[in-house]
Amino acid sequence: MFAEDDPRLGQLLDGIVRLAAGELHSRIEVSPARDELDAIIMGTNLLAEDLEIIYQELEQRVESRTQLLHQAHEEMRAMALTDSLTGLANRSAFVAALTQAQADAATTEDTLPPAVVLLDLDAFKTINDTRGHAVGDRVLAMVGDRIRRSVRETDVVARLGGDEFAVLMPATSATRAAGVGTRILQALNEPIEMDNDSVHCGASMGLRISEPDETAEQLMVEADIAMYASKAEGRSKLKIFEPAMLHARQLRSQLAEDLRGAIADSELVLFYQPIVELASGRIEGVEALVRWNHPERGMVMPDEFLPIAEDAGLMSELGIWVLRTAIEQLRHWREDGIAPPEMSMRVNIAATDLQRLEFIEEVRDILTRADLSPDLLVIELTEQAIIMGNELDRYSLNSLRKLGVGLEIDDFGTGYSSISYLRRLPVDRVKVDRSILMELGTDPDQPALIAAVLQLIRACGLEAVWEGVETAEQAEYLRSIGCISAQGYYYSRPLAALDMARLLQMENAPWHHSAGLHPS
Ligand code: C2E
Ligand code: CA
Ligand code: CA
Repeated sequence: MFAEDDPRLGQLLDGIVRLAAGELHSRIEVSPARDELDAIIMGTNLLAEDLEIIYQELEQRVESRTQLLHQAHEEMRAMALTDSLTGLANRSAFVAALTQAQADAATTEDTLPPAVVLLDLDAFKTINDTRGHAVGDRVLAMVGDRIRRSVRETDVVARLGGDEFAVLMPATSATRAAGVGTRILQALNEPIEMDNDSVHCGASMGLRISEPDETAEQLMVEADIAMYASKAEGRSKLKIFEPAMLHARQLRSQLAEDLRGAIADSELVLFYQPIVELASGRIEGVEALVRWNHPERGMVMPDEFLPIAEDAGLMSELGIWVLRTAIEQLRHWREDGIAPPEMSMRVNIAATDLQRLEFIEEVRDILTRADLSPDLLVIELTEQAIIMGNELDRYSLNSLRKLGVGLEIDDFGTGYSSISYLRRLPVDRVKVDRSILMELGTDPDQPALIAAVLQLIRACGLEAVWEGVETAEQAEYLRSIGCISAQGYYYSRPLAALDMARLLQMENAPWHHSAGLHPS
């Protein structure tokens, strides 16, 4: 027998409590006495062992059952013909209906061919990202509703996925189809009223009237190409498929192919445009602007090839190339005594770069190699890039900030930012979009707007660089209201590296009077 104050009793009790709490791997120590109490302890350990095994098996079974259930769910979803969010047809139902309509048109004489309309919401991603998925879902449901109400009962409306919708008009003329398409676009152009909020999301639309012998898939690809053309051309337009669009797309994919090689074959070049301190005319920094020196097409401008790079997934490769080249350039200019010690390099960074965890390391690495202080680099990010922001963006921005790199919001005033964003973001400066300055001199209200924008930026504790200064009057006005820095053709167009070096040398030359590029 064992004594009542035997310490093993306490241990046994503790052990049982642990097991009961789910710590099935815990065991109770057996003493050398090997008496009755030890037998109970051993029994308890065995029970624990069994429990642990049973538990593991159970877990495995639950896991595989869950997987089966999940599969079954997916299969059911695929088989089901409706999109649960909008109650519209889904992709498989749409393809089936289109195939049927094609077959009907082929077998029945004198019937009109089917027409396919594809449409994609222009602003959905922004709405979803900034207002949350619940709002996004409601917008999709309302859009579905509006499309439904713009078509006939016999037309098939589907959500193909994401923010892409399709309409099938089983037998129709091109005129009617285009009319219906336009009606849908009009309906989608009306703001969508939410509780005490209203959102606007237009759509891009492609139309394809079917030709005999085309498969449903072909028709949809062609409608998609037309939709793509509509997107490229601007907002809320209906485009009817034309074979020439195929060429445009081929050209695009040829360019994408070329672009892949361009980075490796050093066909990319950087131009540099000065940012000038308004009061002194001194060059305080230069912005690196990429161009593509295409062997056949000549200088291709970024607005033309960046969207292609984006689509081809080449943005981060390009971004790193630009960053490295620009920083190396600055190092050379400093070593040659051409760049003033505090002159910074501004580099444009795409939204996708912030999504890569390696980006921060690469920036640090490039700076270390060039032996440059991080504050000589200023990263320019468009408003849109930041406002699409998620956790990763915030992480990247904060890390860059910690690294000591300057951050600037580019194209400020093009629509998205609010004061609360400005205050929340870890940025030092904003670059005001040139559209804000454009009307200065023609529109009498413009000076007031500019002053208000400046006030807003200052109220957030930030400074502004004014972009697109083209005339002496604009420069003078900005200076008179106390703006600090500006950039634009008035001071200099973007220049090739050699020309930029020449300009910097002129600036620094002792015989050059201090007023800088344009003495004020
Ligand atoms: P951005 O960052 O807003 O760059 C300013 C653009 O305005 C440049 O066009 C510049 O040449 C032009 N510009 C400068 N001053 C004036 C002016 O006084 N009047 C007018 N009308 N235009 C002026 P660019 O070089 O064609 O670049 C277009 C856009 O392409 C840039 O806009 C930027 O968003 C993007 N970009 C350029 N280089 C890069 C790059 O290396 N990486 C990334 N991610 N984007 C780049
Ligand atoms: Ca810029
Ligand atoms: Ca800009």
